[in-house]
Amino acid sequence: MFVFSQDTAINYLKGVGPEKAKALSSELGIQTLEDLLYHFAYRYVDRSKLFSINQINHQTSFVTLEGKITQIQEIGTGRKKRLSATFQDQTGQIELIWFAGIKWIKPSLKLHTTCQVYGKINRFKNSFSITHPEVSTQQNTQKVKGIQAIYPSTEKLNKKGLNSKGIEKIITELLTKSRFNLPQTIPDYLQKQAKLLSRTQALKEVHLPSNPTLLKHAQYTLKFEELFYLQLQLLSLKKGRKQKFKGFTFEKVGHYFNTYYKEHLPFELTGAQKRVVKEIRTDLGRGTQMSRLLQGDVGSGKTVVSLLSILIALDNGFQAAIMAPTEILAKQHFQSFKQSFDQLGVDCTFLAGSTPQGKRSDIFANLKTGKTGVIIGTHALIEPKVQFKNLGLVIIDEQHKFGVAQRAKLWSKNKKGLPHVLIMTATPIPRTLAMTLYGDLDVSVIDELPPGRKPVKTIHQYEKNRLKVFGFIKEQIAQGRQVYWVYPLIEESEKLDYNNLMQGYEALSQVFELPHYKIGVMHGRMKAQDKAFEMQKFSEGKTDILVSTTVIEVGVNVPNASVMVIENAEKFGLSALHQLRGRVGRGAKQSFCILMSSYKLSSDAKTRLETMVATTDGFKVAQADLTLRGPGNLMGTQQSGILDFKIADIASDHAIISLTKSYAEKVLEDDPELQKQEHFMLREGLEKRKAQQSWANIS
Ligand code: ADP
Ligand code: MG
Repeated sequence: MFVFSQDTAINYLKGVGPEKAKALSSELGIQTLEDLLYHFAYRYVDRSKLFSINQINHQTSFVTLEGKITQIQEIGTGRKKRLSATFQDQTGQIELIWFAGIKWIKPSLKLHTTCQVYGKINRFKNSFSITHPEVSTQQNTQKVKGIQAIYPSTEKLNKKGLNSKGIEKIITELLTKSRFNLPQTIPDYLQKQAKLLSRTQALKEVHLPSNPTLLKHAQYTLKFEELFYLQLQLLSLKKGRKQKFKGFTFEKVGHYFNTYYKEHLPFELTGAQKRVVKEIRTDLGRGTQMSRLLQGDVGSGKTVVSLLSILIALDNGFQAAIMAPTEILAKQHFQSFKQSFDQLGVDCTFLAGSTPQGKRSDIFANLKTGKTGVIIGTHALIEPKVQFKNLGLVIIDEQHKFGVAQRAKLWSKNKKGLPHVLIMTATPIPRTLAMTLYGDLDVSVIDELPPGRKPVKTIHQYEKNRLKVFGFIKEQIAQGRQVYWVYPLIEESEKLDYNNLMQGYEALSQVFELPHYKIGVMHGRMKAQDKAFEMQKFSEGKTDILVSTTVIEVGVNVPNASVMVIENAEKFGLSALHQLRGRVGRGAKQSFCILMSSYKLSSDAKTRLETMVATTDGFKVAQADLTLRGPGNLMGTQQSGILDFKIADIASDHAIISLTKSYAEKVLEDDPELQKQEHFMLREGLEKRKAQQSWANIS
């Protein structure tokens, strides 16, 4: 019997030669036997559950059927050749189809003999079929009964014989033919308290489930393990930061804050804004560096919160910087902040790529002497030439556009200490996810919109109603409204993208003719200045319709624009749709978002459009998005790594997330350095995980 340790290289396993080992490593990162055991199924098929043919409807996906093949024939010739079999049970019949491997499949099919077929139901016109089903005669069905794991694989692994079945085979080999004992990762007392299986048993059951109950228990155990370690890691990261980074203490709230609050604030703060301002005030006065994420849906009023935070910095003799991801956004911030700072007699400057060299030396000098209190700009702020007298607070808008490295560069702009950092994001993420994603940050949430907002009415329209939509838009324009008209980004080809947009623009120009209607166009190939120019024209009301790709940036604010039309809305992700919709609904008038789509909708696309129509609540949208896509795709690549869960599912494992968090807190409270004997394994496990992840990327 083969005895192994979890660190044994995969090629020592029977059935895995050097070639397969190499492919497993390059394709899935599997190098050791432990890695292999942590390659989990993405779904399970309960093959003991039989369907009858008349139960199949258009929602059915995978089925196992029992019956007889009554007819076999080859249809077509050459590349179009396919093998078709008629399969019958007592309730009806269905077609089985093969396009490849006909030569060896055909002789294996036995007519009029009871057999089971397993596969995915396809629907063509109004009849159902199964393409490339697995067929087994009764004698060998015993083996396939029960729950079977289906593993993710790749094209390349498929070619090497490691499709789901192939992977199942080597895992089965490992689990059944070798002595198998893994070191514990969870202390005994915790395993008992949380009612977990042993690690060894959990891994066995998750791959070769004895029954559904044990499978669930095994999954629970492994999710617990994964999330518990994540929580330990996040908690120690946070603790480390708090200890390491002493910060400036902004102890007073003074003249600037009070004057603005009492005399210039144009509205009463919402309850959520008040709460968040308080959280920030407390944090700034604490003596440790603030590193806070301010999260709030589009339009929730983050800007005024950041303004008040800046005023606290000024009151304590510090300067502040605001960094936005694009020039358009930075300019817009500058315009809206400038007025407030002017009222208070604070010098506020703008700096971006377009700032002429001639103006720069003055800007730099005034920052250095402290004459300028606040600077607003783009990445340009990061440049070494930008030096401050006493930078105390950095505000970063729409953080997901900035890399972490860029954040760090701004931090280093005060030699006396680390400036406080407030990151504002409109990407609504559920709170548990935010905590998990930004474990090293504190999170403040504005979960309330200013009063009197009219929710945007969202309507889904199919192509056939296009004329009606045109009519509606004309009415809106006649009432003085403006319209965004967005075409999808076709990722594969910038050129296609552009053609698509231009075709749309031409078609619209025929319907909305000059001189009655003015249409502007904006796309990714244009220079920043030209984009800004188009945007400016639109915001001044000189164009009625702005046709564009998704380059209309998050955060752009044109209150008079009250209609958003999105073409091929089925091609957009939920968060993109929500962000786009956030461009309207900013004024006093009723706003509309019209989602145009073709008839052919995948079920995911349908859910996306239905979600948009059903709710304007960013958190609900985000939750739906999370459920549809899984968390890995939510934030773009920068956070991947921390979200590469092997088995946990952030969208649905809320209960385990909070449970593991409280266990992790208890453990660290009791034993902060993990020095107790029973926690030794935790320390080792953490070290191992740290080595595996490139934490440099996220902290
Ligand atoms: P975002 O969170 O998207 O950055 P903004 O800060 O731009 O939102 O605020 C959106 C609009 O709501 C702005 O016009 C702002 O003046 C207004 N606003 C913000 N807070 C309030 C409030 N408490 N009451 C009324 N209007 C508000
Ligand atoms: Mg904003």
